[in-house]
Amino acid sequence: MASYQIGVLAGDGIGPEITRAALLIVEAARGRAEVDLRWRHLPMGWEALQGGATAMPEETKAALATCDGWIMGPHDSASYPAAERERRNPSGELRHHFDLYANIRPAHGWPGIAAVAPQADLVIVRENTEGFYPDRNMYVGSGEWMPTPDVALSVGLFTRRAARRIAHVACRLARSRRQRLTIVHKANVIRLGTGLFLEECRAVAAEYPELRVDDYHIDAMAAHLVLRAADFDVIVTTNMFGDILSDLTGELTGSLGLAPSINAGDERAMAQAAHGSAPDIAGQDRANPIGLLGSVTMLFRWLAERHADPDLAALGATIDDAVARAVAGGARTPDLGGTSTTTTFAEAVVAQLT
Ligand code: ATP
Repeated sequence: MASYQIGVLAGDGIGPEITRAALLIVEAARGRAEVDLRWRHLPMGWEALQGGATAMPEETKAALATCDGWIMGPHDSASYPAAERERRNPSGELRHHFDLYANIRPAHGWPGIAAVAPQADLVIVRENTEGFYPDRNMYVGSGEWMPTPDVALSVGLFTRRAARRIAHVACRLARSRRQRLTIVHKANVIRLGTGLFLEECRAVAAEYPELRVDDYHIDAMAAHLVLRAADFDVIVTTNMFGDILSDLTGELTGSLGLAPSINAGDERAMAQAAHGSAPDIAGQDRANPIGLLGSVTMLFRWLAERHADPDLAALGATIDDAVARAVAGGARTPDLGGTSTTTTFAEAVVAQLT
């Protein structure tokens, strides 16, 4: 039986509640699967700060380096002490440290859940290491600075290497889906930076002749998604555009609380829901765990592909099916208009596993 060590970073706000629910469901599903999962709970965020460490302790990073993958809860970095806010936030630090260059964010409609785009079934593939994110796009220092108190400069970084590797991820994914790739950029204005991104994505896509490929400017794409999201399959784009578009697609297909993601490199991947720590509902047992749970099953699929492990892929599919059946049966947290608590929703999913 294959064995995997999975780090668990519960995080801030609703993080501990949704992580508990997700692990409860995975443990219930695992009873039937030929998979050995070993959880390794590690501190980050407020839990680490209260223990006298930084929000992303070196010990946690060292332990994660020995894991096959990990579950990253949300962090409420805006509430951290001033010295801590000067640093890269915990997930930015892990994306940078482990070179998790591909942020993969699917969005699809759910039967019975009201949505602007219920027919949509798409995946945003976001370049995760450069672009206009100043805490990530420099080896040392920041891509932002102020020469005078009244002038701010923000540098975008675009390399052919980063564009090519994210384009390959997107093309491989599109090949396994509906074989359609859309490149999103702003090459009419950010001509050199996003122009280079577009050029490299087109060149890589030409290596996958079975794909239908088109491209849109980011502003036009936002409008197209609202009008006809169901026409799109895999969307590859730069860091900031992907961040913005994936919040849009999460809401278009129901709720941000439903939106999963993984951050993947060549060696490791981290499951991380697209939403934040939701401090407004923290501790109330009303957070939706579906986004985090879907991220965990994405991680299982990623590991399953890497280790050619059909049992782990089957475990992910079993959980996804049980969630879909529980939602179709009316189990819904308040963000979806329902009355389930996080706990009773998890129990409803477990009931579907039997
Ligand atoms: P961040 O900057 O960390 O992304 P944020 O405050 O901008 O944080 P979220 O924490 O994602 O964004 O919260 C946005 C809104 O969505 C809040 O009203 C929150 O309660 C709601 N929300 C986010 N995640 C969930 C969830 N899993 N279940 C229910 N509601 C959620």
